[in-house]
Amino acid sequence: MVETTLNELRKEYGDVVAADDVSLTLHDGEFIVLLGPSGCGKSTTLRMIAGLEEPTSGTITVDGEDVTDMGPNRRDFAMVFQQVALYPHMSVRDNISSPLRASGVDAGTIEERVEHTAGMLNISELLDRKPGELSGGQQQRVAIGRALVREPRAFLLDEPFSKLDQKLRIQLQKELKRLQEQTGVPTVFVTHDQEEAMVLADRIAVMDEGKLQQVDTPETLYRFPTNEFVADFIGNPTMNFFSASIEGGEAVIDGVTYEFPGGDGDLSEVRRMAARPEDVIPVAPDNGGGLHATVELVEMRGSTTYLIVDHDGEELTVLQPEDERFEEGDEVALRFEFDDVSLFDGDGELVRHTDVEDEPVSANAE
Ligand code: ADP
Repeated sequence: MVETTLNELRKEYGDVVAADDVSLTLHDGEFIVLLGPSGCGKSTTLRMIAGLEEPTSGTITVDGEDVTDMGPNRRDFAMVFQQVALYPHMSVRDNISSPLRASGVDAGTIEERVEHTAGMLNISELLDRKPGELSGGQQQRVAIGRALVREPRAFLLDEPFSKLDQKLRIQLQKELKRLQEQTGVPTVFVTHDQEEAMVLADRIAVMDEGKLQQVDTPETLYRFPTNEFVADFIGNPTMNFFSASIEGGEAVIDGVTYEFPGGDGDLSEVRRMAARPEDVIPVAPDNGGGLHATVELVEMRGSTTYLIVDHDGEELTVLQPEDERFEEGDEVALRFEFDDVSLFDGDGELVRHTDVEDEPVSANAE
């Protein structure tokens, strides 16, 4: 078992708090993605785990042993960066085997492990080439192979695919996911791309301004965001936000009163409502009241069609209904699936999800 725990990790650079009380446990075999906008402290956190950056305060333990003051080599973690760093004069085989040779593993074992690793990464035919004779994606596979060949206690990756084109990136994401499941090496992967995070992660740790915002499975993050930052960051298209107040079975959404069926409990703190595109339903205006909007754009995305509508100068994204098609320039009224929205207070913190029956009991498990 390998379990790595971050206890209230903090990193200051002068006045900048790059990581602020980050506490998180990477369980054995688990794939965690650190996700957040540029500058939120992901790389700093990863580099502290790797031992490349010393925390200002807090500790890191591996299976209960404090490794905070241990150098990167002794931690036995492997790291892959955005910028591939391979030895240009060495063959792929020698690049992959270099960490094993450095630690004195015998030749037979080296050969076996290199062949096995190359096989998993689909680069067996490239073993005798030099890095300069490989494409960007192949080079990144070699870097991953070199990291994994020594069977590290954890695997740390910092935006490894962000320089690759979209198609290759998606392919490597799938391969990495499969490889991680096969090897079971606990993995932390840094990205600012929420779609990449959704594909890869067992759990996603969303960061903003140095702080962890929510740590959950991709599905739970998508359905039950714990604050407005997460609600806004996760999902593509993003959620739609409205001013809201709720009282006595009625909701006032951007000044328009709706019947609100899920009104149990105290919702007096509610100031904002967030709804996914599929939970905002455009209808013809003569079909009854609702917020007014104008269709600005019909956007096809694969099998799904969205309408970009303008409501009071704000752009909202809603699903094109199956039964009643709208076109550019159409006036619509907006209805809501109130049993599937998130309600936030004036500070952007969650008051309640209306879909409470499905809500996991411990959304924020360690
Ligand atoms: P991310 O990986 O999420 O883009 P970083 O961890 O790289 O964010 O950076 C977090 C914050 O810390 C940023 O404000 C960045 O400018 C600052 N920072 C990172 N490294 C250093 C450094 N070596 N010296 C000073 N400030 C730094």
